[in-house]
Amino acid sequence: MCGIVGYIGQSAVQEILLSGLEKLEYRGYDSAGIFVVDKMGNSHLFREKGRIAELREVVDFDVPAQMGIGHTRWATHGVPSIANAHPHQSQDGRFTLVHNGVIENFQELKATYLPDVALTGNTDTEIVVNVIAHFAKDDALTTKEIFREALKVVKGSYAFALIDSKDPETLWAAKNKSPLLIGVGTDFHVVASDAMATIQLTDQYVEIHDGEMVQLTNTDFAIETVSGSVIKRAPYKATVDAADLEKGMYPYYMLKEIDEQPAVLRRIVQQYQNSAGELEIPNELKQAVEAADRIHIVACGTSYHAGWLGKHFLEKMAG
Ligand code: GLU
Repeated sequence: MCGIVGYIGQSAVQEILLSGLEKLEYRGYDSAGIFVVDKMGNSHLFREKGRIAELREVVDFDVPAQMGIGHTRWATHGVPSIANAHPHQSQDGRFTLVHNGVIENFQELKATYLPDVALTGNTDTEIVVNVIAHFAKDDALTTKEIFREALKVVKGSYAFALIDSKDPETLWAAKNKSPLLIGVGTDFHVVASDAMATIQLTDQYVEIHDGEMVQLTNTDFAIETVSGSVIKRAPYKATVDAADLEKGMYPYYMLKEIDEQPAVLRRIVQQYQNSAGELEIPNELKQAVEAADRIHIVACGTSYHAGWLGKHFLEKMAG
């Protein structure tokens, strides 16, 4: 699961999407892409295998576009390739989708809704965008209704950002078990899988909860559950430290993070020091640990390995 950035507003979107994706780059990915809609309503899709630097080479910055979606992919279904890179488009070209996560019932969706659709890649995501197009065959449905019908049948984890080329004034999003936020600006909105990607644009964010879908324009956003209840939720101020955003003098985030470890440990220890400088574990933490019959360490990547070490220390110390 990797990165999503979407933007609808007044500024040239290509650079916003690419620099947003670059902020998420250190997490790792195998391919990347952006999709933009220009002022005349024409669509432009750019995808590359490999680095965002390579994607930059193929993006046309002269397209006058102020809305678009971007993605860095960490393949779960299908090899890393241009055909499997996101954004994915429906066969008729109407819908374009980026997705973080894993669709569990992709085979069933394909068999039920897309028996005659020739897919161009092997991802679960391309199946979803074509399922959306399938529901659009009913001319009576609005984009919101089409998206909702698709969300009702999709099972699994997803953060989606969707564009319907028939309505280049609106950006759509939905979330279930994969992170996604709305960023609120003065005359624009963003969606991002992490505020870090767009914190340079705005520090005002609104959470999207599992099972919710979102409609965004330049000036408005509206959240509803997939079952149709309207949700009102106020923005909060994201406190991402701008210094954390940049690698600074370091060639890699990993080196920066290793170097930061003494400072981070000091900060954690200070948190539990009393005025005499002695370690003082808060009572509620002590009680919670004493009352627990087991401890789960939840982690992935490097912290997964650190978790194993922590398990070893805890078991040794606790006998
Ligand atoms: N399951 C999707 C794919 O394989 C999305 C992976 C991701 O989260 O980057 O393309």
